[in-house]
Amino acid sequence: GLLVAMSNRLSEVLESNEFLARLGGDEFVAIQRKSATDDDTPTLAARIERALEQPVSLEGKIIKSEVSIGAAIFPRHGADPETLLSNADAAMYRAKTGVGTSVSIFDQGMDEILRKRRKLANDLNQTVASGELEVFFQPQALVRNRKVVGFEALARWKHPEYGYVSPTEFVPIAEENGLIIDLGEQVLRKSCEFAADWPADYRLAVNVSPVQIKHSDLALSVRKILESTGFSPQRLELEITESVFIDNLERTLGTLQSLKDMGVSVVMDDFGTGYSSLRSLIAFPFDSIKIDKSFIGKIGHCNQAEEILRSVLGLSENLGFDVIAEGVEDEAHVEFLRSERCKIMQGFLLGEPECHRSTERRIVHGHQVLGFQYPQVSEDKVTPANAA
Ligand code: C2E
Ligand code: MG
Ligand code: MG
Repeated sequence: GLLVAMSNRLSEVLESNEFLARLGGDEFVAIQRKSATDDDTPTLAARIERALEQPVSLEGKIIKSEVSIGAAIFPRHGADPETLLSNADAAMYRAKTGVGTSVSIFDQGMDEILRKRRKLANDLNQTVASGELEVFFQPQALVRNRKVVGFEALARWKHPEYGYVSPTEFVPIAEENGLIIDLGEQVLRKSCEFAADWPADYRLAVNVSPVQIKHSDLALSVRKILESTGFSPQRLELEITESVFIDNLERTLGTLQSLKDMGVSVVMDDFGTGYSSLRSLIAFPFDSIKIDKSFIGKIGHCNQAEEILRSVLGLSENLGFDVIAEGVEDEAHVEFLRSERCKIMQGFLLGEPECHRSTERRIVHGHQVLGFQYPQVSEDKVTPANAA
């Protein structure tokens, strides 16, 4: 529906020397034949941009789309169609990731970036296919007494040439080419296998990409993995960002509900960084929310951020869901969270993400962390002195 509306709009703004085709997915290519000057390219781009940025009304809903446009000009940016297309693609990628620009014209530097990205995509594909992707675990503890209650699984990729590549770099690549579906399943399967050996009171949190919900049967694959690993659904939490609600709301809600019906908890990750965090709380009954580390980092520096944290913690108490604070890095953070009755925390202060062997060692040896012990610390024994 949306694509049809968009195509119609595009055809309307084209002039007689211009031609439009859909490449697949939500990608279109517009070709402009030999114009008098290069200066016409920006006007075509501007016309397209204007046409697509107008909201579309579809089945009673108003949809506003984001447009990214990349342009390559013959013969400067390529002498054959393949090169021109691939360079226009590189420019579009820049437009997509750049700040404040939705139109971008190719230059040689982009070629480098795109080539590196293609290489990463290829190499990641191989790593996932051969099952070599690693999973690290970061402890989560009660704010009250620092007792460990579980771990968050975080994907780790050791590239043969570049060393560890950050998930903030490779997850978007995997989301763009669909590899995230296999990658996400692999992370879930591996972490459930590991966690099945932990004491039964430890929970496991695993990140799920909105792409997995949109383009795969997540509920089915979770059920299969739980069955084959024997991991209890009651111990599993799936972390998902609110961007999952951007489109296909009904399908998303259906999937999240089937997960809840299985006994799996659903957590809103990165709370406070999106455009409509509060609205998302109404859309679905999350079991808990995870306040983004950007807020925690402002404790002690920014009154406004502290006030927002207080309100969110109060709100969650009234609405009946738990709050997990991420990015806890110092004692001042813990003190604030304790006084505001936040339940769970996670951060470098308690432990960095570690491989599963180190995680198991921690569990077996009583978790010596930064001078204090968890999980056996009893509530009254924790004073700032023995915790520091
Ligand atoms: P996230 O889910 O919000 O994970 C928390 C990130 O904060 C992790 O980064 C973690 O290492 C980092 N972190 C933990 N404690 C602290 C702290 O005290 N201070 C600071 N500054 N950072 C802290 P990481 O591992 O680089 O992961 C980044 C993001 O990549 C994750 O953010 C998540 O969105 C995504 N990601 C990681 N693994 C997966 C995965 O298996 N599937 C999906 N879909 N996404 C993943
Ligand atoms: Mg997370
Ligand atoms: Mg987060």
